[in-house]
Amino acid sequence: MVAETKYYDILGVSPSATESELKKAYRKLALKYHPDKNPDAGDKFKEISHAYEILSDAEKREVYDQYGEEGLNGQGGMGGMNAEDLFSQLFGGGGGFFGGGGGRRGPQGPRRGKDMMHQLKVTLEDLYLGKTSKLALQKNVLCSKCEGKGGKEGAVQSCRGCNGQGIRIMMRQMGPMIQQVQQACPECRGTGEVISEKDRCKQCLGKKIISDRKILEVRIERGMRDGQKITFSGEGDQAPGVVPGDIIIALDEKPHPRFTRKGDDLVYEAKIDLLTALAGGQFAIPHLDDRVLMVSVLPGEAIQPDMIKVIPNEVPSI
Ligand SMILES: [Zn+2]
Ligand SMILES: [Zn+2]
Repeated sequence: MVAETKYYDILGVSPSATESELKKAYRKLALKYHPDKNPDAGDKFKEISHAYEILSDAEKREVYDQYGEEGLNGQGGMGGMNAEDLFSQLFGGGGGFFGGGGGRRGPQGPRRGKDMMHQLKVTLEDLYLGKTSKLALQKNVLCSKCEGKGGKEGAVQSCRGCNGQGIRIMMRQMGPMIQQVQQACPECRGTGEVISEKDRCKQCLGKKIISDRKILEVRIERGMRDGQKITFSGEGDQAPGVVPGDIIIALDEKPHPRFTRKGDDLVYEAKIDLLTALAGGQFAIPHLDDRVLMVSVLPGEAIQPDMIKVIPNEVPSI
């Protein structure tokens, strides 16, 4: 007779189950509900693990059989081991089961290079009318002559001075003590590779990359805004074994002598003389596309300071 069967039920075994039956049951369920495999199962995995943790411990199992869960609480039976740890301890790391390798999620992809940011000064006219701007910049590209290898096929060899590690442990005597210091290998300058002088690529001198001038055509669409970014994906610096980052062009709007921009509206401050304000008349606003907009003031309109007039829908004429 046992006090309660909850933990046995969780594992789907009878209270008379042997140690190996418990282990078998736990293994089956833990694999099924492991969060790597079954992320929607919620706390099920923890529950299974906790039940197994108690029942696999002869002492705890005895207390549980006699007094139930309550009996364990008094003995600090809760909390115990982390479900994930228990699982790894029993089955030697979560990864092996699911082919994940190493247990941690997400294999590391190739290193990604840095994004490069550039500011592009634009006028309000550019943003209003749209424009294609050419932007010249320097970037590193893989050497075309050696295809980024640094020399002839097979010319690149692992550095013997550091076994290809790029670092070397040096012994340094400091008075009575000998200290170990790590430093970049002088033979390969920390790269871990050497290319003999005669096989070295003449174009990049074995550096694998060369600096290149690149012209980007930046399309500024009508209505773009100050600070808006245009991304050239994968156009960043190239380097061997690295996925190039992006070149990101940020628009930087120059102040305009006549207009300020508010969202999609242009604001123009017009000074008019008192006579026009009172008796009516016309004044002209030179627009961004060289058209001239005429604004009428009707006689008796009684213009006040800071009054706002709206000319709607003045989209570019070209
Ligand atoms: Zn070296
Ligand atoms: Zn080269």
